[in-house]
Amino acid sequence: MRIVLLGPPGSGKGTYASRLTVKLGVPQISTGDMVREEIKARTELGKKIGEYSARGELVPDETIIEMLKKRLEAPDCKKGFILDGFPRTIPQAEALEKIVPIGLVINLNVPDEVIILRLSNRLVCRRCGAIYNRLTLKPKIDNVCDKCGGELYTREDDQPKVIQDRLNVYRRQTEPLIAYYKKKRLLKDVYCKDPKVPPEVVIEDIMAILKETKLI
Ligand SMILES: [Zn+2]
Repeated sequence: MRIVLLGPPGSGKGTYASRLTVKLGVPQISTGDMVREEIKARTELGKKIGEYSARGELVPDETIIEMLKKRLEAPDCKKGFILDGFPRTIPQAEALEKIVPIGLVINLNVPDEVIILRLSNRLVCRRCGAIYNRLTLKPKIDNVCDKCGGELYTREDDQPKVIQDRLNVYRRQTEPLIAYYKKKRLLKDVYCKDPKVPPEVVIEDIMAILKETKLI
């Protein structure tokens, strides 16, 4: 069960991946999380990655692929995995294919306006970092953290204009990748048009696809 999860930033991809992990008993592999862990643990790779970002450069594909290869060959990936945040481009997809064949690509379709609505209503606690949402997870008192009483604010990244820019980059980058996987008949679309739909509903849709493609 080797699954790639594609979805724009703010689509809830990470949430779905971690729920699927529990249901399916395979690990969630996020290259973004792996990079952050390497940096935090100050490994050789982490230092190398740190140098790239200090120079304002992107981490080269081969570095990420080397790290991913090691991870995918670990014993807990024998039964499969859910890959979240990789690949983003066709060369990355081809490199992945050389490490291990992918069985299914789930493409989360969330309209831009839904993502903007969700993210621009996100509130973060200045003191403890807890996350709230004016639509779905309101604090008990306006702009005050339930957990620590700290002040809640909207991050710079969550301004509608910044979100839209990020989504445009994502769409441009992933469109060819979606076509690539479609051509290989690996792509299945999942739709989430309503920001109030709970994650369980989307998970049910994904589970139905897994059954239909006989992965479970
Ligand atoms: Zn707090």
